[in-house]
Amino acid sequence: MSIRVRFAPSPTGALHIGGARTALYNWLLARGSDGTLVLRIEDTDRERSTPENVEQILDALRWLELDWDEGPISQSDRADRHREEIARLVAEDKAYLDDGAVRLRVPEGQTTVEDVIRGTVTFENETIDDFVIARSDGSPLYNLAVAVDDRDMEITHVVRGDDHLSNTPRQLMVIEALGIDRLPIYAHLPLMHGPDGKKLSKRHGAASVQELREAGYLPEAVRNYIALLGWGYDAESTFFTTEELIERFSLERVSRSPAVFDEQKLRWMNGRYLRELDGAELTRRVESFTGRTGLGPAVEISREKMQTLSEFWPMAGFFVEAQPYDERAWAKVMKDGAVERLGLARAALAELASFEPEPIEAALRAVVEQTEVKPRKVFQPVRLAISGTTISPGIFESLAVLGRDTALERIDATLARAKDS
Ligand code: GLU
Repeated sequence: MSIRVRFAPSPTGALHIGGARTALYNWLLARGSDGTLVLRIEDTDRERSTPENVEQILDALRWLELDWDEGPISQSDRADRHREEIARLVAEDKAYLDDGAVRLRVPEGQTTVEDVIRGTVTFENETIDDFVIARSDGSPLYNLAVAVDDRDMEITHVVRGDDHLSNTPRQLMVIEALGIDRLPIYAHLPLMHGPDGKKLSKRHGAASVQELREAGYLPEAVRNYIALLGWGYDAESTFFTTEELIERFSLERVSRSPAVFDEQKLRWMNGRYLRELDGAELTRRVESFTGRTGLGPAVEISREKMQTLSEFWPMAGFFVEAQPYDERAWAKVMKDGAVERLGLARAALAELASFEPEPIEAALRAVVEQTEVKPRKVFQPVRLAISGTTISPGIFESLAVLGRDTALERIDATLARAKDS
């Protein structure tokens, strides 16, 4: 029997990190077994489902490089099929009309969910009222649509968030009423919390895939990190290539306890992934993130200090164009003779035969000796002049990458501003 799984997002918002994990786990199951991943858009909630949300979800999946084999199939396109089954249930007296709406007759007894992750979970049927499977306008409701679709699409494994566990007995009742004899295997993934133990939300930083993307994370780092939210291979392993994830992932190793999404850990992991990219690839990523070109040398000297793509511009945008001065840095640096030292540094840099890191360093250190101050008393004004701040990649390399003309121009601008103030 080959595995058929589905990812079934409701397009009522962006793709949440929890949803991305569900998508990833389904994808890993399919790819690890020559199986099939069906993408089903569950848009039975007509008011809250929008085409923009569908597009955003597909976009997030593509960004994470999670491809699907069938779909996207919109549940709303299958409404006739759902109506057919509803009519059949009414004809067989397994469901009935109540003020126009159709309710399923909940049988007596218990309903047991066999869950790979949660184990056996038993529900007393008397706690469940006859529930609505179609509105009075005839439109099918969620639990009915899911059961019919999972059957029609021959889904073998239903892997989804824990919040759906309480829907499962209802879906099993529909399945039973429809006379379906082969049940899918269920696996409900643990809830996702922020580091403070609360349900994951924007309060914890990024909560959707789109936000992670905009925050400058790499898709491969996000994929690796979210794979570990509820699953682990062994106690030590943290970094997995996609091939390793495909090979090693199994539902049996998914934990029951809530997973904790910790953006600091993702950031650390992202930094590792970022530094592993070769120069050309990292440059390509930074350029596509910032929408700029010609960033190669600037990327090369910033790479050790970057953990996300979004950190590039604040740190290295000055290579591309002059940045406004950080006024607090200015106040701290441009005092006690800093202007004179900057003037001396300018003169030394202007005289250099070769504008390379080594001679630049020698020239600036000569100014340090001459003025008898700590090195930073010379380096910081130069740094502020070229970058607008006191944080930049190595000052000698930075000057070399910037080039003499631009460096001197910026120092002149700084000296002029200091004179005016
Ligand atoms: N459409 C549901 C959701 O987005 C998923 C239902 C399911 O996987 O069965 O939460």
